[in-house]
Amino acid sequence: MDFQLLVNEAFRASQNAYAPYSKFYVGACVLVEDGTLIYGANIENAAYGSSMCAERNAIYQAYCRGYHKEDIKALAIVADCKPLISPCGACRQVLAELLNKDTPIILGCKDYFKVTTIEELLPHAFIGECL
Ligand code: ZN
Repeated sequence: MDFQLLVNEAFRASQNAYAPYSKFYVGACVLVEDGTLIYGANIENAAYGSSMCAERNAIYQAYCRGYHKEDIKALAIVADCKPLISPCGACRQVLAELLNKDTPIILGCKDYFKVTTIEELLPHAFIGECL
């Protein structure tokens, strides 16, 4: 799997971010089993709580297209920042439910990337099996 390609595609997606308040442009790219790439960018709102993160936009769109966790091969999340971007708590909770625990999550900036998993990002997650 070409993680650098996914990082590059996620940066391309970040160009569609709507971030007039934070000026923090985030992109995400989901790779599914059939090779389809699904993009996401952060979309802000004057009512800040109505904003949505890039990675949730991408993963929700994947599900809206009929893909599910078993179809998702990787997720890249990128921003031009240091330290490396990392998903917020709400996104970690969503990813814990909508990704397999060992699906590669690539966190990228312009110079380098790191590969992790939701199990590493959110250990001991609260998931549906708890109910
Ligand atoms: Zn988030």
